[in-house]
Amino acid sequence: MTGHDRTSEELRALALQGNEELGWDSPANDVVAWVAREFGVAATAVASSMADAVLPHLVSQQLPGVDVLFLETGYHFPETLATRNEVAGSLDVNLVDVLPALTVEEQDRRYGRDLFGTDPAWCCALRKMDPLKNALAGYDVWFTGVRRDEAPTRTTTPLVTWDTQHELVKVNPLAAWSFDDLLEYARSHQVPVNLLLSNGYPSIGCRPCTRPVAPGEDPRAGRWAGLAKTECGIHQ
Ligand code: SF4
Repeated sequence: MTGHDRTSEELRALALQGNEELGWDSPANDVVAWVAREFGVAATAVASSMADAVLPHLVSQQLPGVDVLFLETGYHFPETLATRNEVAGSLDVNLVDVLPALTVEEQDRRYGRDLFGTDPAWCCALRKMDPLKNALAGYDVWFTGVRRDEAPTRTTTPLVTWDTQHELVKVNPLAAWSFDDLLEYARSHQVPVNLLLSNGYPSIGCRPCTRPVAPGEDPRAGRWAGLAKTECGIHQ
């Protein structure tokens, strides 16, 4: 089934049904099973920031060969790119690099050097949000690794919802997990983990906009530190 076999109304109704069926804290495997049953692999995408490979691993157990979307902004840490390569080489997934319309050099020439410093919202729009919107147009449902414990802005994240911004079903099977649950899954299933995760970076984004955080600090405090910005705009 492709991303266009169901209408928006039908998808919206399915999101509601999934939300009712799975509630607030069903096990992650049950959430993935619901997607496998209702959508199948061709209509499904997994978003991964390559902080770890837990979500791609979890989903690929029931949806082998699933597309894993990686927003290749051109600004990643080498450790993140190494994790991306490890995921592509070791898991039963189809790794898709989602590219911005402009390379970093082209963006520098057109809008001024280091746009992330002068206008991070615009930089995120060009390098993350627009490319993701285009990529998601081909699917009926997408998985994200958003967890409620990551930030005050994420405490009400449901397991299944209708994504009004991108117009498809959004599934967050790890929403009820803690950071320790994530590490335990990675350890027991021996899935790739970004080396930065255990070096003070509990949340990993682009290199210019991510700093390590102190123990006990909000895990996302290192993202766009010093600015009012806390989210790139993808998870609204
Ligand atoms: Fe640009 Fe920073 Fe956003 Fe990455 S996180 S797209 S470098 S503003």
